[in-house]
Amino acid sequence: MSNPTMKSDLVFAAGTKRPAKANVVIIGNGALGLFLADELIERQVGSVVVVGPSHRDTGASQAAGAMLGCFGETTTETLRTDAARTRFELGLSAHDKWPETLRRLDEFAPSDRPLQTTTESHIILNSVGAELDTVNFAAIIDALDQYERPWKEVDPADIPGYHPRTESRALRALHLPTEGAVDARGVLASLERRLRHGGAILLDQTVRRLVGSDEEVTAVELDDGHLIEAGTVVVAAGIHSESLVRTVFDVPDLMPTFPGLGFAMIAKRTGGEPFTSVVRTPNRGFACGLHVVPQGGGLEYYGATNRLVHTVSSVTWMADVRFLAQYSMQQLDERAATHEVTKWCTGNRPVTLDGFPLVGWMPLSGLYLMTGTYRDGFHCAPLLAEHVANELQGKSGIIDSIFQPMRKPVATRTVEWSIDEYVTHSLAAWFETGAQAAPQMTTSQLTDYYRNLAVQTYEQLGVDYALGPDILWYAQGNLHGARRVARYLRAFKGDGDVAEPTGATTGTGGTR
Ligand SMILES: Cc1cc2nc3c(=O)[nH]c(=O)nc-3n(C[C@H](O)[C@H](O)[C@H](O)COP(=O)(O)OP(=O)(O)OC[C@H]3O[C@@H](n4cnc5c(N)ncnc54)[C@H](O)[C@@H]3O)c2cc1C
Repeated sequence: MSNPTMKSDLVFAAGTKRPAKANVVIIGNGALGLFLADELIERQVGSVVVVGPSHRDTGASQAAGAMLGCFGETTTETLRTDAARTRFELGLSAHDKWPETLRRLDEFAPSDRPLQTTTESHIILNSVGAELDTVNFAAIIDALDQYERPWKEVDPADIPGYHPRTESRALRALHLPTEGAVDARGVLASLERRLRHGGAILLDQTVRRLVGSDEEVTAVELDDGHLIEAGTVVVAAGIHSESLVRTVFDVPDLMPTFPGLGFAMIAKRTGGEPFTSVVRTPNRGFACGLHVVPQGGGLEYYGATNRLVHTVSSVTWMADVRFLAQYSMQQLDERAATHEVTKWCTGNRPVTLDGFPLVGWMPLSGLYLMTGTYRDGFHCAPLLAEHVANELQGKSGIIDSIFQPMRKPVATRTVEWSIDEYVTHSLAAWFETGAQAAPQMTTSQLTDYYRNLAVQTYEQLGVDYALGPDILWYAQGNLHGARRVARYLRAFKGDGDVAEPTGATTGTGGTR
């Protein structure tokens, strides 16, 4: 790829509110964009402009629970293949960066409340979900042991704040003393203050298009037509990144990203014992599990839903409100019923077709892409910032090259495996959402129903790349989505011309 180093001949006119030139223009003011800007300012690379609307409507970072989770996010898939293990270890490295990151931000915090709201997590196993909870709970323990991280099994009744309805109580729980959470909105505000203090320019606008030729990107055009010439343009606009890149570089084999619309709420506790740690289930059907995250100041974050949708929006589904409110009261704390909701959080996770991030130089000179972080991008942002800053400066990166944006989709499963996973997730979602079937209908009939749906979807798609359960669900339920998935996969010669499934490192392997 091009771009060994940033051009350094562009001069930034100090004091100019809307500069005509900058060394680096970062599009996007979410966690990825702001942490990168902070790293670049720290390294004194020249002028840095961040463009992004202050409301951050539809953005993921402003809605995040910001759990700093590695092991809490582990599933049966996490360590099964080399690629997934590499992704997991990216998160592990990111975890180590947070103490220093928080020290840097501390003096810029917008209030007296600590940015780190807790340093520990409890993982609960109840029977409201399905078999997926059980196997993911076991996978968490297995991963903790493999990586020799501290944990212990505790009596769920001893978890501070945890008072579920008795029929939904957990019978097992793990204590993870080193996985906590930060106040996402506080961290974003602190970063902005630190950036302003350090001389970065933050523009409360959007970029309409990238400006350049077939070979290079030279500028960005803002929504009001103002042009900023840039040595390097970094697109870190979350779910909007793909469409922005396509304003200058529209090729069929650019991996699609899908909005993972998520909903959560922040509520003020009105009574009862507060939570002092993250309390969460393992990752569940198509989503990140039910969790509560202490926010400080008597506030608690209850999250989160995830559904892949065709159109980016900031709407909240009534079904999601019902789901989250009911199950928070039922599975976490009965007293949540009288909490006062102070903020509705809706955002779109950037979900790539193969589930892995897109981080690296694009074929056009001067254009860099960082997105696709799905459900742990807040956690990974400081590490990704360090990696990208290195690459912008022509130094060696610190993450694996498999995340290059123009790659073929990474393959980690066979179609048979994908269908099995889809069935498992669908059953988990069925039970978790309290769906009802006729009393005489058995679980094996439900299983057959979902298996048939998955098989039919593959027949209709006509592709042999094995999709993750969430993408298969999306393609199954959405005609436009199915076309988009199929069009992209067919862009590779012979449909199947994608990376071979990566080697299995444990368990039954990637060739099932
Ligand atoms: C409900 C929910 C809960 C989550 N919980 C966690 C968690 O506990 N831990 C964790 O690590 N991660 C979590 N995530 C995932 C995490 O939030 C994302 O992976 C990460 O924040 C993505 O950051 P980003 O900067 O790439 O994108 P975003 O945060 O989406 O930021 C992109 C920014 O670009 C701006 N933008 C868009 N278009 C333009 C344009 N044309 N011009 C300029 N700016 C533009 C947007 O306004 C937005 O602010 C969660 C996500 C959701 C939705």
